Amino acid sequence: MKLIQNVQEMQQTVLGLKRQGKRVVFVPTMGFLHQGHASLLREGRTRGDVLVLSIFVNPTQFGVNEDLDSYPRNLEGDCALAEACGVDLIFAPTAAGMYPPGFQTTVALGPLTKPLCGASRPGHFNGVAVVVTKLFGIVQPDCALFGNKDFQQLAIIRQMTQDLNLAVEIIGMPIVREPDGLAMSSRNSYLTAIQRQQALCLFRAIQKVRDLFANGETSVDRLLGEARMIITAVPETSIDYLELRNSTTLQPAETAAGDTLFALAVKIGSTRLIDNTVLGGDL
Ligand code: AMP
Repeated sequence: MKLIQNVQEMQQTVLGLKRQGKRVVFVPTMGFLHQGHASLLREGRTRGDVLVLSIFVNPTQFGVNEDLDSYPRNLEGDCALAEACGVDLIFAPTAAGMYPPGFQTTVALGPLTKPLCGASRPGHFNGVAVVVTKLFGIVQPDCALFGNKDFQQLAIIRQMTQDLNLAVEIIGMPIVREPDGLAMSSRNSYLTAIQRQQALCLFRAIQKVRDLFANGETSVDRLLGEARMIITAVPETSIDYLELRNSTTLQPAETAAGDTLFALAVKIGSTRLIDNTVLGGDL
C-alpha cells in the first residue's frame, strides 16, 4: 500500500495503471475510518484491480460555524485499517494542493440539494460536488462506492454523475450500525458516554417509524409525531429535521409508502448526527 499526497503524482500513478488495463475502484472519505468505511473498502476490493482510498477533510463543505478544525483525524490508524481492507493507494492531499491560488470553479446543483441537509447546511453540497468531481478527475475511477448513511449526498452524486456523463459507476452501500443501532460515524467520537446513550434516540425513532409503517400506518403527521416524541423525550437533543420524503426525488411524501425515505438530523449537545431509512427497504 502506498500513500500519495501530491495531486499530480496521484493522477500520473493512476494514469499509468489504467494504461495497463487495470480497473480502478475508489472510496472517498474524510478519514477517521470506522467499520462503515471498511464495508465500502471490502466491497470495493472485490470490484476491481486497484483499490484507491482518499482521505481529505474538505474545507469547502464545512460552514463557518461547523467543525472543520475539530474534525477527528488519525492518519496512522486509517492506514492500518486501509491495509487490512486491501487498499492499494491512499490519496491524502492537502487543502492547498486541492485548492491552489486562483481556484474558482463551482458546480451548479439542482432541486435535490434544497431540502434536508441542504436546507440546514447552505453550500455544503456544492463543496461536496466540487471535491467529488475533482477526486474523480484525479483518480479516474471506473467505479466509486458511497454509503447510504449520507443518503442525500449519494442521490446528488448519482444525479451529477449522470447529468455530467462522468464515466464512473456509482455504488450505494447499506448503513453500518453499532450493535445497539447507532449509525457509525466519525462524529460519534465527539459524544460523551451519556450523550452516546442519548444518541440512540435516532435509531429508536427509525425503528418506531418502520414498525408503525409495517403495521399499516401511512399518515405522515402521525409517523413524524411519534418520531418527534421519541427524540424530544431525551434531554440535550434538538431536532434539526425529521422528514418523510420520496427516496428518489426527495420531494415531501403525502402519505408514507415503501419507497418513502425517513431522514432525520438531531443535535446531541453540540454534535449533529444524521440517520435515515427507506421504509420498505432493509434496515
Ligand atoms: P465520511 O468520511 O463521513 O465523509 O464518509 C465517507 C463515506 O463513507 C461516505 O460515502 C459515507 O456515506 C460512508 N459512510 C460513513 N458512515 C457510514 C456508515 N455508518 N455506513 C455506511 N457507510 C458509511
